[in-house]
Amino acid sequence: MGRKKRKRGRIRDRTVIIGLAALALLIGMLYFRNTRQTADVSKPAPIQAAAPIESKKQTQGARTNKKDPLLTLVNGKNPLPKGWKADLVPLEGEHSIDRRAYPGLKKMLEDARAAGLDPLICSSYRTNELQTRLFNEQVKAYQNRGYEKEAAEREAAVWVAVPGTSEHQTGLAADIVSVSNQNLNHSQENTAVQKWLMKNCWKYGFILRYPSDKNSITGIGYEPWHYRYVGKQAAKEIYEQSVCLEEYLRQ
Ligand SMILES: [Zn+2]
Repeated sequence: MGRKKRKRGRIRDRTVIIGLAALALLIGMLYFRNTRQTADVSKPAPIQAAAPIESKKQTQGARTNKKDPLLTLVNGKNPLPKGWKADLVPLEGEHSIDRRAYPGLKKMLEDARAAGLDPLICSSYRTNELQTRLFNEQVKAYQNRGYEKEAAEREAAVWVAVPGTSEHQTGLAADIVSVSNQNLNHSQENTAVQKWLMKNCWKYGFILRYPSDKNSITGIGYEPWHYRYVGKQAAKEIYEQSVCLEEYLRQ
């Protein structure tokens, strides 16, 4: 046993020595790199090396303008901008959507139907009055389940935005469900409609606005039915990077 312990002790010593050596090597390399970088600054940059960096910057700037009104962030901390006026196009039923989002939405629904699916818009533009009514109904539902008013309001806000902070008030959002399943719950994600929309919506300029893993950032629970128009370029980038709108705008 004693010999074994000594042996283990020696192995541990050797590991420590190797670790220290590796650390020293790393520090040395970093030092060397830093000195080289410092030295390079004084030298004029080779033209060929500088050019691609410059052109990359220009492309990035041209790709998305994060101040585009289509990227307006509306959430619990960012209320609808004062004086926001939605320019709307009427849809079936009582629904309407922002004029800029309309062509994309129309084409998305047409293509989904052509693929044999049954998408149905169940919510779109909301006035402040409508948002207030929906929010109050949700608060009442929680109160009926025994919640105190304050707690009921807190819980309700996870599912129905506090009036003035709903994306539906921008006119850029639509809730889309399957005709065969109109329940606004997790079961939506299993419908053929949602599977298709989640995979394809970015091609039409839409994003799934409240993904399952972003609740702590968006402040809204997982909603596999709420789509937001942001324009084709931004939608593509958001989809490819698997980020939510809040994260995308912070970049
Ligand atoms: Zn919604």
